Amino acid sequence: MKSIFLTDEKPGGNLMRPPGIALRRWRMRRILKRHPIPHRIWQSVSRRVLLLRGLDAVQMAHLRELTTWFLDQKSITGAQGLEVTPSMRVVVAAQACLLILDLGVEYFDGWVEVILYPGAFRVNHVQRDAMGLVHDEASALSGESWLRGPVILSWNDVERDSYHRQGGNNIVLHEFAHKLDGLNGVANGMPPLRRGMSRKQWTEALSGAYAELCRDVAAGKPGFINSYAATSPAEFFAVLSEYFFTAPDILKSCCPAVYRQLTLFYRQAQVGSTPMMNLKAHP
Ligand SMILES: [Zn+2]
Repeated sequence: MKSIFLTDEKPGGNLMRPPGIALRRWRMRRILKRHPIPHRIWQSVSRRVLLLRGLDAVQMAHLRELTTWFLDQKSITGAQGLEVTPSMRVVVAAQACLLILDLGVEYFDGWVEVILYPGAFRVNHVQRDAMGLVHDEASALSGESWLRGPVILSWNDVERDSYHRQGGNNIVLHEFAHKLDGLNGVANGMPPLRRGMSRKQWTEALSGAYAELCRDVAAGKPGFINSYAATSPAEFFAVLSEYFFTAPDILKSCCPAVYRQLTLFYRQAQVGSTPMMNLKAHP
């Protein structure tokens, strides 16, 4: 059983240490002043994107700042002729920034590019099987996140998850959660934890739940969350993050220890406990 959720970091080395907080604040103020998101676009996106409806006024204001920062620091470009409108950029950036609402912008360090395809995109991945034979496998993906590289998304899937959400599914949260996970150089289901969080408790909680899910999936039983999460510890963390923000009640009841760790990490229990999660899709 693959059970990682650990890094080579020294104990206590899990703290993000942003260089020059004052400098970052100054840069942020400059960005907010020079490149504000037009009010009309922000209003429209915050009204239509289901995930944002449960945020209070203070959280929304902070999210708007982070989204402005994101749009200034990261490039979002279209592929296969997709024209990326300002509104589309905000839809992606705002949901990505929900992950770092309480973590800080340094959690999105180390990469700059987001690529949007109109729909599912085909990729070729080289796989080595148990016999050592190498296969070139083609598959269609709705999203992909490269370690230290771009995040690639299907706009079709982004739209579906943004406006017609089903609990446990959000491709933007999923792919950008991989960015948090990969920040310490390896995607293994353990992002750099906050000061005061226990790596041991994180590992125990997530490894136990991951092993249980893998057992269920191997036995052909329905897993307690999307069985894709059993692919690897990295996918487990990304799927857990989707549930944490879109279906926290499921996570809370099926894996309370995991829910507790994600609450400590994202510090957004108040978001998950609002009626936001029960909202119907906007007409
Ligand atoms: Zn993934």
